[in-house]
Amino acid sequence: MRPHPPGGEAPHRAGCGCQHGRVSIDLHTHSTASDGLVEPGELMGLAAEAGLTVVALTDHDTTAGHGRAAAALPPGLTLVPGAEISCYVEVDGRSVSLHVLAYLFDATEPAFASVRAQIREHRATRARQMVRLLADAGHPVTWEQVSELAAGTVGRPHVAAAMVEAGLVPTVSAAFSREWIGASGPYWVGKWQPDVWQTLSLIRAAGGVSVFAHPYASRRGVTVGPDVIERMTAAGLTGVEVDHPDHDSDERRRLRGLAADLDLVTTGSSDFHGSSKPQGLGAESTSPATYERLVAAASGARPITGPTG
Ligand code: AMP
Ligand code: ZN
Ligand code: FE
Ligand code: FE
Repeated sequence: MRPHPPGGEAPHRAGCGCQHGRVSIDLHTHSTASDGLVEPGELMGLAAEAGLTVVALTDHDTTAGHGRAAAALPPGLTLVPGAEISCYVEVDGRSVSLHVLAYLFDATEPAFASVRAQIREHRATRARQMVRLLADAGHPVTWEQVSELAAGTVGRPHVAAAMVEAGLVPTVSAAFSREWIGASGPYWVGKWQPDVWQTLSLIRAAGGVSVFAHPYASRRGVTVGPDVIERMTAAGLTGVEVDHPDHDSDERRRLRGLAADLDLVTTGSSDFHGSSKPQGLGAESTSPATYERLVAAASGARPITGPTG
C-alpha cells in the first residue's frame, strides 16, 4: 500500500493504490520505548507511509515514547497516546497474565505513573534473574548485552535477542519455548504486576479508557473466560481487541458475540513490533465509530494531530 502523494495537492486517481480519503486506524503498536524495534519518531513516519490516519503508541508499561512520537508526527496523522499494561487476574486459585491497553490517560497522574514505574523496575530485576540463571547454567548471556538491546521497558524479547546473539537459539521465537524462557521454562522468571482490578481503577482515575488486549489469544498461553470479561466490564472496561493477529476466526467470532452482549466496543489493531513479528502496521484496524467512542470516554488526554498543510 502506497501513501497518497504528500501535500494533498495531487488528485486521487482510481487505482493509484493510496488510502486517499480513507480513514485507517491502528490502536496497538510498540516502539523501542519497550520491545519494538522501531524508534517512536520513525514509527510515526512508517505509520503515515502505511496509509494510517490514526495510530496509538502503546508500549509496555511506559509512556516514554510519546514525546518523540508527537514531535515527529507527519501531516495528516493523529497520535493516540497509550500504554499496554501488564497485569494478572486470579482464576480458581491460579494467576493468569493479562494485557490491558490504556488510552488517553493523564500520564502525570501520580498513582498510575508510580505503578507503571514499579512494573518496569520489577521487569528489570526479573530480566537480570533470567540472565543469571542462563549464565549459571553455562549459557553465555550477559546483562550488559540485554541492557544494550533494551532502550526502555525491558522484556523477555530482549533476553531472547541476546540469546540469539550468543548463538543459543536460532530465533527470538525459539527462545520463548518451554526449554528456555517460555512460561515455566527453566530460565523463565515471572514478573510482579498489579491485578486487573487495580489496573482498571488506575486507568479510570487517570482519565483513561481501557481495552482488553488480545483476550482470547490461546496461542499466547492461558486465557480467561467470558465471566472474567463480564467482571472487567463492571469494573470499567470499555472495549475488547477482537481483530488481533493472534486471534483465529473462531476466537474473533466468540469475542464479538460477547462484546455485543456486554456493550463493549471492539477494536482491531496490528500489535506492530517491527520486524520481530510478522504483522505490518495497519494489518488490522478499528472503525471510526469505535475510535470516536473511545475518545469520548476519555478525559485524561486528547489525541495529538500532526501539522496541517
Ligand atoms: P514479557 O512481558 O517480558 O514477559 O514478554 C512478553 C512479550 O514477549 C509479549 O508481550 C510479546 O510481545 C513477546 N512475545 C511473546 N511470545 C513471543 C514469541 N514467541 N516470539 C516473539 N515475541 C514474543
Ligand atoms: Zn511486546
Ligand atoms: Fe500484549
Ligand atoms: Fe502489544
